[in-house]
Amino acid sequence: MTEFDFIRLYLQCQQQDSELVLGIGDDAAIIRPRNGYDLHFSTDMLVGGTHFFPDVAPADLAHKVLAVNLSDMAAMGARPRWALLSVALPELNKDWLTAFCDALFTLAARFGVTLIGGDTTKGNWVFNVNIIGETPYQQALRRDAAQAGDDIWVSGLLGLAAAALDRHWNKVTLPATVFAQCEERRLRPEPRVALGQELLSLAHAAQDISDGLAQDIGHILKASKVGAEINADLIPTLTALAQQPSLTVAQLRHWLLAGGDDYELVFTATPAQREAIIAAAERTHTPVTRIGVITTGTQLHLHDHAGNVIQLQQQGFDHFG
Ligand code: ADP
Ligand code: MG
Repeated sequence: MTEFDFIRLYLQCQQQDSELVLGIGDDAAIIRPRNGYDLHFSTDMLVGGTHFFPDVAPADLAHKVLAVNLSDMAAMGARPRWALLSVALPELNKDWLTAFCDALFTLAARFGVTLIGGDTTKGNWVFNVNIIGETPYQQALRRDAAQAGDDIWVSGLLGLAAAALDRHWNKVTLPATVFAQCEERRLRPEPRVALGQELLSLAHAAQDISDGLAQDIGHILKASKVGAEINADLIPTLTALAQQPSLTVAQLRHWLLAGGDDYELVFTATPAQREAIIAAAERTHTPVTRIGVITTGTQLHLHDHAGNVIQLQQQGFDHFG
């Protein structure tokens, strides 16, 4: 199969939408954005050996590369609209590409995203998506808008992907059923797009958790010039994981606070919005948990139920750290 067969047969098969003037096939796509909306642009790349194992299933890889980008849109309350996909592959294998494109277009369709372009080159396993989303004019959720007194909330369950990865490296043992649930989260993160859009009118600041909660909330604290108090015992995780007798408290805390690959949202909102946030979470079928408060300081303070201070060895993932 040639590069042009791949583009024509696998990629150039989608419906157009009203703002897309020109899709795949020319030198560049054309979008005519509607009035009253701000556009969001973001990109996230997966590299073989760094972000995925060489034997990854093509459907899992496709899901993840789009999902991590959708998660960036969710973090800003944006509605994802368009994506560009750049791939470097050693060969164009029909079965592999069929499985990859099926999963990619399935997830794209679920979130109303149209693939509008990309690049295809021979190379060593790199997958990059550029995503474009929109929010109503000046409504976006940003990292710099947290206020002292805000509640801190997280969506979903944290630490599962990190636990699965440590099990892959044989650093821990996990029962097969627990590992399977963790592995599902590592391979198939669920971007919290619907919740993010609901939060536009409810939250002050938001961010998605990709490199570990402690590090990622640190970005909100820095940008907003505030501090935080978090009770680590309130951070939601899989009950069966938390109850593993073979795991130390320190191991579990490390996954919850510094693990990475969660793709959940952390957001802050005034306590007056508690009921509205719980209602939004129910409408969007997204569990949310309150884990702490924003303070007037500049530091993140972690403690447990008994009030003991928790010191973290490592805040989160850093490619060059
Ligand atoms: P050019 O050489 O002018 O950059 P290409 O031959 O690379 O054009 O691409 C032709 C068309 O196919 C363009 O519209 C481009 O956006 C699209 N395209 C190429 N690769 C991909 C891909 N992996 N995913 C989506 N669209 C792609
Ligand atoms: Mg090109």
